[in-house]
Amino acid sequence: NLIASSRMIAVVGTGVSGLSTARFLREQNMPFVLFDTRENPPAQDAIAAEFPDVHCEFGVWDEGLLQSADEIVLSPGLPLSMTAIATAHDLGVPVVGDIELFVRHVNAPIIAITGSNGKSTVTTLVGEMAKAAGIDVAVGGNLGTPALDLLAQNAQLYVLELSSFQLETVTKLGADVACILNISADHLDRYDGMPAYHRAKQRIYYGAKHVVVNRTDPLTQPPLADDVLRTSFGGGADFKNMGLREQEGKSWLCDGITALVPASALKLPGRHNIDNALAALAIGKAAGFPVDVMLSVLTSFSGLAHRCEWVADVAGVSYYNDSKGTNVGATLAAVNGLAREDGKLVVILGGVAKDQTFAALLPALKTHARSCVLIGQDAQLIASLLDGEVSYQYADSMAQAVAQAQAAAAVGDGVLLSPACASFDMFSDYQARGDAFRQAVGGLQ
Ligand code: ADP
Repeated sequence: NLIASSRMIAVVGTGVSGLSTARFLREQNMPFVLFDTRENPPAQDAIAAEFPDVHCEFGVWDEGLLQSADEIVLSPGLPLSMTAIATAHDLGVPVVGDIELFVRHVNAPIIAITGSNGKSTVTTLVGEMAKAAGIDVAVGGNLGTPALDLLAQNAQLYVLELSSFQLETVTKLGADVACILNISADHLDRYDGMPAYHRAKQRIYYGAKHVVVNRTDPLTQPPLADDVLRTSFGGGADFKNMGLREQEGKSWLCDGITALVPASALKLPGRHNIDNALAALAIGKAAGFPVDVMLSVLTSFSGLAHRCEWVADVAGVSYYNDSKGTNVGATLAAVNGLAREDGKLVVILGGVAKDQTFAALLPALKTHARSCVLIGQDAQLIASLLDGEVSYQYADSMAQAVAQAQAAAAVGDGVLLSPACASFDMFSDYQARGDAFRQAVGGLQ
């Protein structure tokens, strides 16, 4: 009898992190029950095969069972404000997430990275730097392998990308190095305004030994006492920290007054990636990585797929896939970063707006866009911003959007897919959206 057994954990949500939690609990011989709000969650068959003896509550839940749990492990996709979860919590059941379980069990240093944009790029860079420095490192979290699955590697160092959703259920992370890269509006369909989103991100700093902040973004500053080590990065020069400096007509990435590498030596495209490179240097320095090793990684890394990724040149027009541009801040960085000197951009935008307003995009689009092609459920929201300012047309599919963009582009232009929206109205995820773009571009002549 589950209710009578001495300990029981409720694993709520059966996505990637929920199943990773389930595997971990089984490994620990800890009894658990799986909960999902969906009657037939996508992993149902896989769960039946992998956890044949585990009790599942799919669809309507036995809330008494949930409330009798010793602890609830909530998936990041579900909010703490869900009635059943909030009620159980009010009755005294602790609610944590997989990152909290990870923190309890890890016995090696953690580098933790969050931000509205650039997380995956910086996490990957820092992981590559650690590897190149000869450290046995495990990299994952919100990116790639879920955190609890990484524990099996018994690594010397863990580099974690953390989302605001994951951070909501973390109490004291205790990272050796913790960084918020930047904060701009995102996920306002889940958060009750920017302050709540900001508070979730700030949880990354609890218990950190060394914090790395963005000098140009006050929201990344922690409310911590001065005795915590603090390093900053940012576009301007700074005598003590990572910055950018003009020297003999070139921009250099600098550590204080020491010039490290010219920005032109980076393979990563766009101004925003200089910020990401500076952030990775600041984090790596805080972690004690050798400078020459960090620089060799920075000058060889050409970026991840779906992030301002060059796809092809067709008939004098370059095509870029920035499907991971899922909020206004990311698309702004992509439009400014890929702006052309001798041409303009045709920008493909739209999808699920997540309660964002798009106004911040208008100046950059007016300057750099020849026109826009709008897709997805919230295309009209963007259209109302562009009306009378930037020309646009609607498309029903990615293939149609790419064909229209090609027709609108002039020789020397770029076509940029950077939707500023989530993808799940038309695609299973941002990768599928980027792949559809790539495929459509592949069919052009
Ligand atoms: P995340 O993991 O936070 O989504 P990624 O590294 O995957 O970030 O980059 C996603 C997109 O965000 C990029 O394609 C680019 O459009 C934008 N971006 C990346 N870095 C930055 C940055 N430092 N500032 C603003 N936008 C950025």
